[in-house]
Amino acid sequence: MTLTDVIEVLEAAYPPARAESWDAVGLVSGDPAQPVRRVLFAVDPVAAVAQEALDWGADLIVTHHPLYLRGTTTVAATTPKGRLVHTLIKNDVALYTAHTNADVANPGVSDALARAVGLTGDLVPLQPFPDDPWRGLGRVGELPERTTLGEFAALAAKGLPHTPSGIRVAGDLSRPVSRVAVSGGAGDSLLGGAAAAGVDVFLTADLRHHPASEFVESGGPALIDAAHWATEWPWLDSAASILRESGVTVETRVSAAVTDAWTRGY
Ligand SMILES: [Zn+2]
Repeated sequence: MTLTDVIEVLEAAYPPARAESWDAVGLVSGDPAQPVRRVLFAVDPVAAVAQEALDWGADLIVTHHPLYLRGTTTVAATTPKGRLVHTLIKNDVALYTAHTNADVANPGVSDALARAVGLTGDLVPLQPFPDDPWRGLGRVGELPERTTLGEFAALAAKGLPHTPSGIRVAGDLSRPVSRVAVSGGAGDSLLGGAAAAGVDVFLTADLRHHPASEFVESGGPALIDAAHWATEWPWLDSAASILRESGVTVETRVSAAVTDAWTRGY
């Protein structure tokens, strides 16, 4: 298999044209003609992940987050990102990113998150594309049975990979919960959509004090704020499965390196 074969599968599942205009998705480094036998999936293109790729003998790293989101004038090894580019090229490891195009795909990042926290049955986008009701940001679904906010939070914490910052809850813990909205990564922009969707709780990441406080004060759904990395990590297995099931004969591995920015809670 060549890098081109693998990219073809990834781009069918996560069309780059669906990425946000500010995003930077696709091939970051690597030669489309190079052979690919082992593919490592990770959330972040950081040094620990590059090291894991070298240790395992990966030919390609597929990450959710872009390495360079804005333009750069240097890839000198004097910066962490430049150093990473050097490490990858010297060792023939390609880097490919599926970011907002993976967020809006079906199945995408929030589908995997929804399943990880226990949602079953149909999932619909929280903010569907005007031209496609089955694709878009966030997902809304139902729990198999009604529970409380406290119990759902415990279920979510168990279903997501552990991080030092854990998960935080805003709302009455005894509040009944059955209809849930989720969005992988920073979900601030979807607060209004979650309120309008009539859900009992909205689970996302990177919520800030004022928007969260005002949201709960106004009688909106309860909020669960998880670690950014943890909300996107479940997607890695989904992307790896799509690649394996496509017929391309590659070995896949999901990085277990916890690359969330917050490394310790007290
Ligand atoms: Zn993210």
